[in-house]
Amino acid sequence: MSQGILVIVEHNNAKVNRISIEAVTGAQKLAAATGQPVYAAVLANDCSAMTTELSSKKLDKIYAVANPELADYTPDGYTVALAQLIERIDPAYVIVGHSYQARDYVAKLALRCGGALMSDCIAMNADGGNLTLTKQVFAGKFNADYSFSGEATCFISLQAAAYNADELESGSASVEDFAVNLNKSDIRTTVLEKFEGTKKDVDLAASDIIVAVGRGLKEEANLEIAEELAKALGGDIGASRPVCDDGWVGADRQVGSSGQTVSPKLYLSLGISGAIQHVVGMKGSKYIVAINKDPHAPIFDIADVAVVGDLFEIVPKLTEAVKAAK
Ligand SMILES: Cc1cc2nc3c(=O)[nH]c(=O)nc-3n(C[C@H](O)[C@H](O)[C@H](O)COP(=O)(O)OP(=O)(O)OC[C@H]3O[C@@H](n4cnc5c(N)ncnc54)[C@H](O)[C@@H]3O)c2cc1C
Repeated sequence: MSQGILVIVEHNNAKVNRISIEAVTGAQKLAAATGQPVYAAVLANDCSAMTTELSSKKLDKIYAVANPELADYTPDGYTVALAQLIERIDPAYVIVGHSYQARDYVAKLALRCGGALMSDCIAMNADGGNLTLTKQVFAGKFNADYSFSGEATCFISLQAAAYNADELESGSASVEDFAVNLNKSDIRTTVLEKFEGTKKDVDLAASDIIVAVGRGLKEEANLEIAEELAKALGGDIGASRPVCDDGWVGADRQVGSSGQTVSPKLYLSLGISGAIQHVVGMKGSKYIVAINKDPHAPIFDIADVAVVGDLFEIVPKLTEAVKAAK
């Protein structure tokens, strides 16, 4: 019978991605609930930096899948290599972060392994023996629960911030090299020059404090008051979509269904109405403070602290108070 939880770890220039750390955290929690071992797999030409990074985490084993054809990510390379690893260890669950890369190859991998994929899940619950997976549906308006049937390996991708990377458990993990049979002829795509769609000057997913601005700020010149507050708090500026569309801030600062999913310790929203497409990207924040002049603004439904008032009066005073407190 299939046994164990395998997390496929994604990396960027040999540094493990945050979404994979969150996936490992989720796997550790699932392991605690099911008593199953947790394995991690890293794929690269040289896996040493990632195995070193992961070896101090609570994992039963790290599989280092090193091959020159895995120097760059390709869907064929990852599918061929991982199908061999999965055949060898026969895990009950394969877990990945729901990244663009995972979207590209994991459904194909699941099919290759005779399993099924439940993608973009926000929670895994193994109470009572059966695994239930929760997904958001209708643009985050509802949550729906799903479960797998049959004996095949279950593939699960987890939405960014579904699990809190701060809760990752430390430990000591052994590393096993896994040699794959992978050749140039297995890979049908050619990797050209890499580029970033948006030049990022901030990684909001890693921010502890976000001061997010919305259309209530009225015009770009007023951004300054939010920036002052963000500076006083030591936070980063986030934004609703219209603010990014209007070019007040870069697209990498957009929070929501077509932007970033964030989970800072503090999310301070200024003049944001709380449309579902925005909320879906920030409702995992630990503490939400919302300032809006409309007492019925939907953002207040999820705010820990609701401040009804004019942001142009409140924010400068708040900034002064933060500076004074420091
Ligand atoms: C397919 C799709 C994807 C989308 N993706 C995203 C996404 O990723 N992220 C996103 O944010 N949106 C997204 N949207 C847009 C979303 O539906 C909303 O239109 C958007 O979030 C609204 O932005 P806002 O809250 O800044 O503006 P508004 O809805 O116009 O709200 C402005 C708020 O400011 C308040 N306000 C005004 N003046 C003041 C003041 N002086 N003091 C205090 N408060 C004030 C108002 O009461 C109001 O609540 C998407 C939409 C679609 C259709």
